[in-house]
Amino acid sequence: MTFDELSLDPRILSAVSAAGYTNPTPIQEQGIPAVLGGRDVTGIAQTGTGKTAAFVLPMIHKLGQGRAKARMPRSLILEPTRELAAQVAEQFEKYGANYKLNMALLIGGVSFGDQDKKLTAGVDVLIATPGRLMDHFERGKLLMTGVQMLVIDEADRMLDMGFIPDIERICTMLPKTRQTMLFSATMPPEITRLAKQFQKDPVRIEVSRPATAATTITQYFTHCPSNEDTIKRAVLRSIVKARLTDQAIVFCNRKREVDVVAKSLASHGFDAAPIHGDLPQSVRMATLDRFRNKDLKILVASDVAARGLDIPEVSQVFNYAPPPNSDDYVHRIGRTGRAGRTGESFTIVSPGDSRLWDAVLKRIGKDVEEYRPEGMDEAVSEARGRGPAPRRDRFDRGDRGRGGRRGNREPRPVEEATPTAEAPTASEAEEAPTEADAATETPTSDEPRKESGRRRSRGRDRKRGQSSAPKAGSETEQASEAAEPARSRRRDSDEPEGREPKFKGMGDHVPAFLLRSIERKQDA
Ligand code: AMP
Repeated sequence: MTFDELSLDPRILSAVSAAGYTNPTPIQEQGIPAVLGGRDVTGIAQTGTGKTAAFVLPMIHKLGQGRAKARMPRSLILEPTRELAAQVAEQFEKYGANYKLNMALLIGGVSFGDQDKKLTAGVDVLIATPGRLMDHFERGKLLMTGVQMLVIDEADRMLDMGFIPDIERICTMLPKTRQTMLFSATMPPEITRLAKQFQKDPVRIEVSRPATAATTITQYFTHCPSNEDTIKRAVLRSIVKARLTDQAIVFCNRKREVDVVAKSLASHGFDAAPIHGDLPQSVRMATLDRFRNKDLKILVASDVAARGLDIPEVSQVFNYAPPPNSDDYVHRIGRTGRAGRTGESFTIVSPGDSRLWDAVLKRIGKDVEEYRPEGMDEAVSEARGRGPAPRRDRFDRGDRGRGGRRGNREPRPVEEATPTAEAPTASEAEEAPTEADAATETPTSDEPRKESGRRRSRGRDRKRGQSSAPKAGSETEQASEAAEPARSRRRDSDEPEGREPKFKGMGDHVPAFLLRSIERKQDA
């Protein structure tokens, strides 16, 4: 089928052809006639399927007839994030280039004044995030009674972000006679309920996942010998160095990991920048723009930040670890090998990731080839030299008199055991992150989250130390050694109150050699 067969206005067809598209994608083939025919549509499709054009093209066609009145938008598109809203606006501009449609983008980070001016002039298309739309409505600047078409895009993500109550309120403010299009990658019960409540006899269109349909992606995994983040980062660098051809996304499971990995890559000379929900909007947009304009080679992202973003032409996807949700693996690798292009994906699998990786293999239903980048072993040994081990050496050097195993067991100063942003411990790598964790992390400043992260990892270390005897030299041993100072300090502070400090002014920080000398005196 070609676009010409879809009964779209010639002005739209020429814009589509100027964009380089001749054949509609399956969601466009089925969705465009349904929307043109005035039907409600439930589209089960994710980004990469061409779903945006599936509603944008027929909307332009319909809005071409008629004119907008002040403060009364004629159509409304709800998007979960500002980036997605901005991307849909771009598509309206591209495909509506031969029309004189007025568009307003109501998203955070843009002044109310400018947005008000646009609304007052009258808009054909209003693209908004639910929160900002409600703000405008409550300020009395907006009348919803003229909305003839409503799009609820990325509905499952709206659910993740807690927007469903806002959407329900917005729906009740719109005329009942409107046409409603709802798009969602998945249909959890809450979204099915929403569709039932606000749609009339919708045409249901389900399209296959682009990643499973694509055969142009070659997938690899790289076994990482350790759960230590310093080692994982060394492995990542080796893979990126060996395989990056054009532009890539590095996926991490948590926001903090995104920052650390991006910083680490950049400090090793790679052109990399992070994108996650805690970064200011202006920074996120600027980073995305740089990536789209090919001014940036590597985007380091979380699943939540990347979902739905229209980022064409990624040559490689690197997974710092398998995602907690195996569906996300399919979404991640679907960023490469799009539209007939070839792509590669590389997943780092550490010992602690085997359960997640098994779930991925089960999900994709096929084996993935192992890849060992050249120079990886050397990079790992070098990283081991910089990792936690030298800290023990350093401590031993300063404590030579005692020697032997006992020396290693002495508590280190607490600061040394505390994971820092630059060198998180093995125990942090083993925290089992979930998609929900990432989605619900509130966009606050980094510090409080780091604090709570530290507490969580210590808690887990304690449990692990009590319940299992670690094997000598194993990763688990390293992790419980990191927890040791915290336990030792707790024992110190459990000592009976009122006991005289042995050395005034030193508190608990009494060097071992002084302690031994006073103990010898007391024994004598
Ligand atoms: P979407 O699923 O809407 O996020 O679109 C994903 C990508 O597919 C975007 O970069 C579009 O520009 C592109 N696209 C949309 N329609 C077509 C088409 N008919 N043929 C090829 N690419 C398309």
